[in-house]
Amino acid sequence: MEQEMKYGNDYKFIPATSVASGKGVEVLPDLYMYTTQIANICLVGEPNCNEFVLVDAGVPKQADKIIAEVEERFGKENKPKAIILTHGHFDHVGSIIELIEKWEVPVYAHELEMPYLTGAMNYPHPDASSDPGLVAKMSPMFPNDAINLGNHVQALPTDGSVPFLPEFRWIHTPGHTRGHVSFFRDKDRALIAGDAFITVKQESLTSVISQKEEISGPPKYLTQDFAEALKSIKKLIQLKPEVAITGHGVAMSGQELRDGLDHLVHHYAEYAKPNQ
Ligand SMILES: [Zn+2]
Ligand SMILES: [Zn+2]
Repeated sequence: MEQEMKYGNDYKFIPATSVASGKGVEVLPDLYMYTTQIANICLVGEPNCNEFVLVDAGVPKQADKIIAEVEERFGKENKPKAIILTHGHFDHVGSIIELIEKWEVPVYAHELEMPYLTGAMNYPHPDASSDPGLVAKMSPMFPNDAINLGNHVQALPTDGSVPFLPEFRWIHTPGHTRGHVSFFRDKDRALIAGDAFITVKQESLTSVISQKEEISGPPKYLTQDFAEALKSIKKLIQLKPEVAITGHGVAMSGQELRDGLDHLVHHYAEYAKPNQ
């Protein structure tokens, strides 16, 4: 039987946005990134094809915009085969219940992320002291109570395959959250990184609003284990990604991506240093 779904008790609209909000970018012919206020979603599949998936589900109260974007790209009667999550933070599952109700599609996430998606466990409270930036300061007001997707969500296959995306594999990239995953396609080295690393300094409100490009570690105020997060970044660098879509900020490719990741690893101690 289908179980009822419910957002956490502190679920709410987030009064923060960016210049990219409501805009979509075709990063590759079958990789489309769309920004919901301050967080990206990704549609994988060629326009008007019948086999596509949605990666992540945006910030709260954006379902109408996400549905409109999907219909614009894939046709009015079309819907994704599944919603696949990098992790379960509020800005990646914020509109997911309305999307599941509209499309009746399965959701997949890493096994270790399941407690946070089935109402069993809340993420640790955001750490406002992690960074002097204003978004970090605002973070205690972000929704933090676990969403409950009941049996609409299931664990990703343990063999690394990604349902409905035969060319991709999931890579466990813990640190930001325990069950965080990224998605990688070997043939063109395309990476969907989630929040394993991002391309904007998400702690800073001015950077978020302007979407100033800068490869950064995961949003600090919500990151659970900085040492693990560094290992995950190194794991992704070893894949030699050619193009990356991240959970926050613009898509990046080629030398700019490589240099940015290199810089991040070499300055990681500064990034991860607790704010005094
Ligand atoms: Zn996150
Ligand atoms: Zn995020």
